[in-house]
Formats: sequence, structure tokens, C-alpha cells
Amino acid sequence: MQKITWSHSSLKDFEGCARRYHEVKVLKKYPFQETEQTRYGKDLHKAAEDYVKDGTPLPKQFEFVKPTIDALLAKPGRKLPEHEMGLTIDLLPCGFKDENVWVRGIADLLIVDDDGLTAWIVDYKTGNNRYPDTDQLKLMSLMTFAHFPHIREIKSALLFVVKDTIVKQRMTFEETEKAWWEYRQRVSKLSSAFEHNVWNPTQTPLCGWCQVKGCEFNPKH
Ligand code: SF4
Repeated sequence: MQKITWSHSSLKDFEGCARRYHEVKVLKKYPFQETEQTRYGKDLHKAAEDYVKDGTPLPKQFEFVKPTIDALLAKPGRKLPEHEMGLTIDLLPCGFKDENVWVRGIADLLIVDDDGLTAWIVDYKTGNNRYPDTDQLKLMSLMTFAHFPHIREIKSALLFVVKDTIVKQRMTFEETEKAWWEYRQRVSKLSSAFEHNVWNPTQTPLCGWCQVKGCEFNPKH
């Protein structure tokens, strides 16, 4: 079987359109272009990380998130900002960049309450809250259960910092087996695409915004 490495975003990209995934992520024909929005998101994540890590004051433009982060910091437990996790294909914890890493994820803020056997995962979102994608919280919860095996329950949240809204989710350890099998089914399609080198296009109304200009379904073709 072809060795693959995946993450929430790469799996979503593949499921959105296998051809685009192949051209952008595998062949790397279209390097990432920073925009004002992506830079803003990156700067906010860094500011929040530094604030949680050592109390570095938030830059003026991000001071509005201080009350929200302070409320999270008041929760019991170890605070682990931008916490990187990796798992092998056997779901054993490994380093983010290890040779045998199968799935990777980064929790923007992980709070591990060792005494309460619970954890909190928070993902900061600077974009629109119209279609919240909680799948990412599910994967981060699964990875956290694997890295912190004493944890029994995880609460997680997408924090739309600009919109000031929150989307919450909860997972217990008992739910992990079923959830992993669902992921294994999804990831097997990605493995199969690599194995057979077949990357089918998926035409959608969003094709007009796709980087793959050479695709026959791109209106800019
Ligand atoms: S234009 Fe549409 S079908 Fe073609 S690669 Fe892009 S997303 Fe896929």
C-alpha cells in the first residue's frame, strides 16, 4: 500500500476535488499565495499563541480577543498553545514530523485537565461562520484521546473571533472507535487514488475560483 500522510485540510481538499488536490498538493504546481485574510489569520494565531505561552501582550489590533482567551485560561488544566500531534497508521502517538507519521493535526489551544480527565480544544477562526466545519474538531479530539490516553471526555469549539460566535462539540472516549473507522473509510479513497494514480475532477460552482487553470471545468480554461 502507498504510504500517505494526511490532515483534516488535506483530506477535505481531496474530497472536494481529487484533481485539484493532485495538482496543488502533490505536484505543487500552484504555490500558496498569501492574501490579506490569510496573513491576518496567521498573525492572530501567533499573537494568541504568544499570549497563552508567556503572557506576551496582544498587539492592539487583536486586543478584542483578550476576554475570550482569558476565559479559556481560567479553565483548569495545562494550557498547550499550537500543540502539534502526529499518529502512526496504528494510531500510536508520534511526532508531527516523524518518518512514520500517518495523520497530523495542530490544536490552536489544547487544555488538558489531568485531574478532571477532560480536555478542551479550541480552534480560532477569523473567517465567516456561515458554514462551520466541525469535522476538524472531531479529528483533533480523536488525536488528543490517543496522545492523552487518560482523558475520557473532550469539549471542543470553533471560535469565530471576529464574528464573536462559538460552535461547540463534545466527544467521549467511547465514541472514538466508530469515528476512527469512518476516517479510515474516507482515507482509503485517498490511498487508492495514490495507488492507482487516478485523480478525477469534481465539477462544482466553485470551479471558477480554482487555481487549476488547465482543467476543462475551469471557466478560465
Ligand atoms: S476546475 Fe473544478 S474540476 Fe477542475 S480541478 Fe478545479 S475544482 Fe476540480
